[in-house]
Amino acid sequence: MPPPFLGAILDLDGLLESHGQPVPEAAEAFNELSRRGVILRILSNGALRSRRSAAQALRQGGFHLLDEQLYTISYITAAYLREVGARSAWVMTGGAGLDDFTGFRLTQDDPEYIVVGEYRQGFTFANLNHALRLLKRGAKLVGMDPELLDYTFGEPELNPGAWTVMLERASGVPAVYLGKPAPYCFELTLRSMSLRRSRVVMIGDQPGTDILGAKNAAIASILIRTGEYHLKPPPADLQPDYTFDRLPEILPLFAPAHSSM
Ligand SMILES: [Mg+2]
Repeated sequence: MPPPFLGAILDLDGLLESHGQPVPEAAEAFNELSRRGVILRILSNGALRSRRSAAQALRQGGFHLLDEQLYTISYITAAYLREVGARSAWVMTGGAGLDDFTGFRLTQDDPEYIVVGEYRQGFTFANLNHALRLLKRGAKLVGMDPELLDYTFGEPELNPGAWTVMLERASGVPAVYLGKPAPYCFELTLRSMSLRRSRVVMIGDQPGTDILGAKNAAIASILIRTGEYHLKPPPADLQPDYTFDRLPEILPLFAPAHSSM
């Protein structure tokens, strides 16, 4: 038997939320882990939401949590830009995710960094060519989400990673990727937990991001057969440490609530 886990990093879409709606039984499992004193973080590649907006949506769905437990890719990217001392950036993203970038000089005129997030209708011929020319003139390239395809609504859609790869290939400027399965998002999240890696587990529905990222970060992983699992089952060389059908089944892997202390 492995030691009980003391911390968990949970994926958001397809695990705690389904098609953008909080999942009640996931909220119950999350709140139970909280009651047991498990240190919980939520790690999401979704660029359209800020740390705060994602936390608010979960709270409305019955999750008991603080904004600080959310590691959305917008928050993570802003932390990265702060860490590297970025002076200016063109953050190609929309929605509330942009709120996490307050304090930066956001500009399309000669920015130091081109940050590719979820720009949706903003990914126009004109904008992409402008980004290409800025990269050719020396701007650095950051990809928020490395994933190429998104299956949130059933049919495949181009994900931010696809646009980033295109700019990378066309400009010859290599991108720094920050979202799952890239190491930066895991390192930032783990740093905030102050636990030994052997006591932390990643829980998600996607082998290519959640499980691969956990393996790269040297933490254990649990695959839940919800969300995109059925669209992208794990390849033979990417097996999680545990697999369950539903999130509440993970509870025995965590110590029961302390009776004293
Ligand atoms: Mg997911």
